[in-house]
Amino acid sequence: MSAPANIVFLGPPGSGKGTYAVRVAERLGIPAISTGEILRQAIRAGTPLGREAQAYVEGGKLVPDEVMERVLADRLAQADCARGFILDGFPRTAAQAGQLDRALAARGAGVTHAVLVEAGEELVLRRLGGRRTCPSCGAVFNLDTLPPRREGICDRCGAALVLRDDDKPDTVRRRLAVHAEQSAPVEAVYRQRGLLHGVDGSAPLEQVVAGIVRTVQVAAAS
Ligand code: AMP
Repeated sequence: MSAPANIVFLGPPGSGKGTYAVRVAERLGIPAISTGEILRQAIRAGTPLGREAQAYVEGGKLVPDEVMERVLADRLAQADCARGFILDGFPRTAAQAGQLDRALAARGAGVTHAVLVEAGEELVLRRLGGRRTCPSCGAVFNLDTLPPRREGICDRCGAALVLRDDDKPDTVRRRLAVHAEQSAPVEAVYRQRGLLHGVDGSAPLEQVVAGIVRTVQVAAAS
């Protein structure tokens, strides 16, 4: 059996990385883990984590690293991560990159690939404005690039789609500023290890997905 692929997806909000993560994960037979989606589910369910995270998420700010460390550890401990995973939205700070290293080192593993989805500000703003999310199952659509089969309705579970509160323009600006401030040190961690692979987030969906799958398989084979 091949070694697990422990992959992180980096890139600005709206770069499409969540959509690519889900599709690449399906092709590789490993779970795609969105820490933002874990937090949104916790907020919807009103759990202690949800109550702790709510103000940060809704304000477009980062949830504190100590809280995220628990979220990460709980999720990576689940059985479906044993053969690898794609993390979408984690790590977002250099401290979180260290948390991930320690969590993996405890099982004798490490990050195997970091995929940086590159997208300019204009594209990101357009994508976030057109993004529609299912408040019930978390599925994500885009009015331009990935419309639902029936307008305003989730293909997967039939709930009415919404514009996420944090996809509204003021909060988007805050999220982009946070990303601009925090991303360079995280990218540097993986660049220094020779694990960073850049992909063009503006290319057509299937092309980006196929490119990432190839990159991961080639890197794993070499
Ligand atoms: P996302 O769905 O990845 O855009 O995340 C939505 C929101 O969840 C972010 O704006 C943050 O408030 C929070 N969040 C998700 N992942 C993290 C993380 N790794 N560290 C801190 N906050 C996070």
